[in-house]
Amino acid sequence: MTLEICLACGAEGLRHFHEEPSVPAHSCLLLSSRDEAANYPRGRIDLGFCAACGFISNTAFDASLNEYSPKYEETQAYSARFQKFARDLARSWVADYDLYDRSVLEIGCGKGEFLVMMCEEGAGRGIGIDPGTRPERIDSPAADRLTWIQDLYSDRYGFILTDAVVSRHTLEHIAPVGDMLTTIRRSIDNRMDTVVLFELPDVRRVLDEIAFWDIYYEHCSYFSAGSMARAFRTAGFDVVDLDLAFDDQYLLLAARPSASTPREPVSPLEDDLEALSDSVDHFEKGYRDTVVHWREMLRSNRAAGGRTVIWGAGSKGVSFLSAMGDGDDIEYAVDINPHKHDMYMAGTGQRIVAPEFLTEYQPDLVIAMNPVYLDEIGYKLRSLGVEAKLVSL
Ligand SMILES: [Zn+2]
Repeated sequence: MTLEICLACGAEGLRHFHEEPSVPAHSCLLLSSRDEAANYPRGRIDLGFCAACGFISNTAFDASLNEYSPKYEETQAYSARFQKFARDLARSWVADYDLYDRSVLEIGCGKGEFLVMMCEEGAGRGIGIDPGTRPERIDSPAADRLTWIQDLYSDRYGFILTDAVVSRHTLEHIAPVGDMLTTIRRSIDNRMDTVVLFELPDVRRVLDEIAFWDIYYEHCSYFSAGSMARAFRTAGFDVVDLDLAFDDQYLLLAARPSASTPREPVSPLEDDLEALSDSVDHFEKGYRDTVVHWREMLRSNRAAGGRTVIWGAGSKGVSFLSAMGDGDDIEYAVDINPHKHDMYMAGTGQRIVAPEFLTEYQPDLVIAMNPVYLDEIGYKLRSLGVEAKLVSL
């Protein structure tokens, strides 16, 4: 049973363009045995494109398969590159929207690192809400200005009134995106100076690069600059800023409650419906060949007696390995996050190891799950005395 109504704009009739019949339903959970990882619940992906607003969703998504808890390990905070990006963003959001000594609610705050940064950069008070929040990991002089709620955001928390509502990489995990934005808009009510700041992955890049590893079960909702802006307008916001960041992988949107008629688009990025439809075509046509290209690379390395590891044991890694099939071509996934070590990749069951493991294992091929970390990974490999060929998705 698939859903034929767009959950962003309400239009009927979606174009189905990509299906994966069986993928791990979760890819960031810490799974402590190979059996548990291999037998992890699976779900189906069936992407539908709404020609009216450009929103893309997994029409076969079943939220009951998802489990968000402290076992969820999504943090990228162990990468220096990601840390710098987050720190710069926290600083500029506080400065650009004058949040000095003001209050910030972060919906889907994960382990809370970003909210801590916003308070360290001048915000007065932070409230973070996330089912996977781990306050005991917070070590900051700003800790006493922060409140944590271990739950999913909903109408129940509409009483929380703050000067800014921040949400990073959360809306893509929520199926009823229109309802979610309307809930936030309702809680803001007539406090018109409230600023809403969102960050999401940009689906245009995923489609144009045929980055199939960026499509995974937890991400049931996929936005472009235009579809994101349109969804905010539909929910009663004015979009006041719209931009790409992190090597154009992420979308940044700033919005304020709109009083009456929504304002004109602030960025040409918003006008993307036709291009988005072309990107959907491009992905649909090129998907199979892209998967085959990577499978052949793994198989030929193994046939030549080589060892391959992936670097990055997060969602991209789970999705990539799952598409690679039986999993015999890769034995290990490397990650710098110590909380993941000796855990296993959901679905395919590779053990997650620390970079130091590679000194002994000596792989021939290292596949980085994100090109933005290539420099960081290359440096680490050299310092460990590993001479493997390094490529990136
Ligand atoms: Zn739509």
